[in-house]
Amino acid sequence: MGSRKKVHAFVRVRPTDDFAHEMIKYRDDNKTIDIHLKKDSRRGVVNNQQTDWSFKLDRVLHDASQDLVYETVAKDVVSQALNGFNGTIMCYGQTGAGKTYTMTGATESYKHRGILPRALQQVFKMIEERPTHAITVRVSYLEIYNESLFDLLSTLPYVGPSVTPMTIVENPQGVFIKGLSVHLTSQEEDAFSLLFEGETNRIIASHTMNKNSSRSHCIFTIYVEARSRTLSDEKYVTSKINLVDLAGSERLGKSRSEGRVLKEATYINKSLSFLEQAIIALGDQKRDHIPFRQCKLTHALKDSLGGNCNMVLVTNIYGEAAQLEETLSSLRFASRMKLVTTEPTVNEKYDAERMVRNLEKELALLKQELAIHDSLANRTLVNYDPMDEIQIAEINSQVRRYLEGTLEEIDIINLRQIQEVFNQFRVVLSQQEQEVESTLRRKYTLIDKNDYAAISAVQKAGLVDADGHLVGEPDGQGFGLGVAPFSTKPGKKSKSKKMFKEQLRPSTPPAKPVAFEDFKNERGSEINRIFKENKSILNERRKRASETTQRINAIKREIDMTKEALNLQKSLREKQGEYENKGLMIIDEEEFLLILKLKDLKKQYRTEYQDLRDLRAEIQYCQHLVDQCRHRLLTEFDIWYNESFFVPEDLQMAVKPGGSIRPGMMPLSKIVSLGEDDQDRFSQLQQTTLPEGPDSVSFYNAKVKMEQKHNYLKTMMGLQQAHRK
Ligand code: ADP
Ligand code: MG
Repeated sequence: MGSRKKVHAFVRVRPTDDFAHEMIKYRDDNKTIDIHLKKDSRRGVVNNQQTDWSFKLDRVLHDASQDLVYETVAKDVVSQALNGFNGTIMCYGQTGAGKTYTMTGATESYKHRGILPRALQQVFKMIEERPTHAITVRVSYLEIYNESLFDLLSTLPYVGPSVTPMTIVENPQGVFIKGLSVHLTSQEEDAFSLLFEGETNRIIASHTMNKNSSRSHCIFTIYVEARSRTLSDEKYVTSKINLVDLAGSERLGKSRSEGRVLKEATYINKSLSFLEQAIIALGDQKRDHIPFRQCKLTHALKDSLGGNCNMVLVTNIYGEAAQLEETLSSLRFASRMKLVTTEPTVNEKYDAERMVRNLEKELALLKQELAIHDSLANRTLVNYDPMDEIQIAEINSQVRRYLEGTLEEIDIINLRQIQEVFNQFRVVLSQQEQEVESTLRRKYTLIDKNDYAAISAVQKAGLVDADGHLVGEPDGQGFGLGVAPFSTKPGKKSKSKKMFKEQLRPSTPPAKPVAFEDFKNERGSEINRIFKENKSILNERRKRASETTQRINAIKREIDMTKEALNLQKSLREKQGEYENKGLMIIDEEEFLLILKLKDLKKQYRTEYQDLRDLRAEIQYCQHLVDQCRHRLLTEFDIWYNESFFVPEDLQMAVKPGGSIRPGMMPLSKIVSLGEDDQDRFSQLQQTTLPEGPDSVSFYNAKVKMEQKHNYLKTMMGLQQAHRK
């Protein structure tokens, strides 16, 4: 299997009393024929016409019995068919040279039966010898006459005349002839009846339809399918044995052929030379295109010629001087065929149903095996089935506890559980990442590094400096995440440090990034919500647009590929040209399916493209909304910030210990702890206790100072709290 094999070419010489001993000589190797042509005296003495030829073939069969011919020519091919190799045996030669005799033999004499009945006998004998296999045999008998197909078994009562003309169809399983009856035969006798039925039809047709039977090609096919009776064996093999009785190869002299005869001769000569071309092309490993479709003969035999099958050619010749020219031409054909190599391969197929059954069995067995192992290893019954939700939730909780440190280790139970543990690690990790991110979002504004519009807007609002540092950022870390790059160059660092220190004065309002967060939770919450909503819509549309673009690209690629395949099909069809029928272009199924596919792809393309255009419009609109929202958010924040935190210098001084507060200097609501209650308490205290003793003044002054200082701190804290809310 897989190794290259030559086409076997044999010569059979028809017995004659008038054998041209002087012209035809056999060498002792039983393989070589030497032909010597006497110089044509009419051509004169000086002529350099070739007169000697030598042909070496696989065997020369002279005066050979039908028995010997079968043993030599067919036996191996047939026995290989039961192992899944396709085989083809063809008889070639001029009319009357013995092709039909070799192939079918004399149907009235058992002894002189030909290859066909013997092949059927061998197949059934081998089936008997192989009780381990269930082997089915089917047969069909096809005649090709003037490029038309005829079913030689259509006369059987259960077949009935075919309504539509037969056609040659190709599919991944091979080539078959649609409309050709194929007959299941369970025994030798049935097979013989079919053969005789076909032979009779061949003869009848030659009378009723005025066909010359030597002008047609006949293909008797035996289809074999072998399945092991061992149910566990899911492989099975199929094969075909084609036994081909070719039309006569002789070239008719032009003067003698006219009308129907000329037409027949043209068809025969063409199909035989196409056969030769196809076989030679098959033998040429560099060729990738084989012209099978040039004629019905090669098309019907496509999967049985050369290539992956065992091929045998029997060349029938006359041994008489009068036929020497045709004999020479036949021998030339044979020696060309002999050079062709083929690579026989088994047609192996898989029975899917058996395969599933076997796998199920094996699975059950392995589970039992595991159960035994577990009990030997003293492990309590471990379940190897896929996990359910509860089990997965338990593993998730184990992983969480393990990460928290409350669980020391996770016991390993089986492979499925290990895989699930890893899986849950991933789940927990991604949940934690999301939690961290949302915590940060609650506290800080995260700006997309690549969103330059957002960064420049933030810069405008003074939240980050030109280098992308957040204002008030201590040592390049802290407030906002995601604004990049955070430069860590020493020079820049000192600058931001200085700014930070300046702002750290106790009375300083909170840094803008912090205040911005507060703003978003308070006054700006509604606009911030709308901003976020628009942004997420925008992002979602962008994602969809990118997905649609990807789909469009994929469809485009597929369209290109389909177009290419279609062009290839078209050029093949044009080259072969046989599908043009009465001015009607007939394309094959493959090409038709490609056209349908292309149409469908184009439709998809248009729909997707329209979607993309709609999405783009939507994106543009949403982008506009987002920009507007951002602008409003920042503007309103500025107003709010100034309103809330712009505390003049003198006001700051006023709330310091010893400072005095004038009415209207500061909104009372902002200084919560300096409420009227406290003020009243002081004046009341002074009025009630002072008269009791003048020495108490300093005491009271100290007390007032202490109280004032305390109030100052309370005020500052109150301020800070107010801002943070
Ligand atoms: P083909 O099919 O090539 O036209 P046939 O097989 O019909 O030729 O042979 C022509 C005649 O010669 C037939 O009557 C056939 O019985 C006879 N014949 C051919 N070959 C042999 C042979 N090897 N032994 C005996 N008779 C033969
Ligand atoms: Mg014949």
